[in-house]
Amino acid sequence: MSQVGNVEAGSRHDLRVGVSPDAPETDDLRDDGDGAFGYVHSYESSSRYDGPGLRLVLFVSGCLLRCSYCHNPDTWHLKDGTYVSARAVIDRLGDFAPALRSLDGGLTISGGEPMVQLAFTQRILAAAKQMGLHTAIETSGFLGDRVDEKYLSCLDLVLLDIKSGDPETYRRATNRDLAPTLRFAERLAAAAKPVWVRFTLVPGLTDDPANVEKIARFVALMKNVEWVEVQPFHQLGGFKWKAMNLDYKHEDTAAPTAELVKRVIEQFRVAGCHAR
Ligand code: SF4
Repeated sequence: MSQVGNVEAGSRHDLRVGVSPDAPETDDLRDDGDGAFGYVHSYESSSRYDGPGLRLVLFVSGCLLRCSYCHNPDTWHLKDGTYVSARAVIDRLGDFAPALRSLDGGLTISGGEPMVQLAFTQRILAAAKQMGLHTAIETSGFLGDRVDEKYLSCLDLVLLDIKSGDPETYRRATNRDLAPTLRFAERLAAAAKPVWVRFTLVPGLTDDPANVEKIARFVALMKNVEWVEVQPFHQLGGFKWKAMNLDYKHEDTAAPTAELVKRVIEQFRVAGCHAR
């Protein structure tokens, strides 16, 4: 049993490892509890980037993907996160709620993958809604089949990372299958749930025009997608891979040029998406 710790303010760029050595393996997590406790990396209280308005962003632990360019490999395993009570998270959120409301913002849960700890994240999202806050999660959608209607009803927006349109490229980038993400995307479209699609542009990995085209065509059919956000690869997470003795394949990958970013945004626009 992990020891209960404090909810830590910080940044997605902080390295947190080995905080809860007794935590279960992410693969073994049976998320059938009441969500009173969970594992978190940190939170940022003033993001303008992860949803509309001012956001408190909670980074939770646990992810089943292994994106080769992941900026936060210290969120993959629950054992690297701090074991905290949902109550403590909700109380902290309450401290920020007046400011978040007045700046048309709210709560975004990111990670890691919020759907690894479904009961825990649902409890926090439901509390945020009770405070009158806008709610969002950032997800790969890989575990979308686990989500029920009640969970979806706690969400005003889904930031859906579609990491590639080509199944083989997706597997090379994430070590997992693309199909569950597309299935979840179709479900969100059927439910008319607002979505911002996020696509990480990694030169030499995800930038092939045919790969981008497949996402663009798929997304253009989803009337619930408000934005496609092209996120240029950067090296800010590289130090974490080295510190954790992980095999980092992008040491020599440069950030995409302005021309490449422009080309990809234009591809989405030509397909009929609102892209930026
Ligand atoms: S889904 Fe996100 S947290 Fe998980 S490996 Fe990929 S980039 Fe990292």
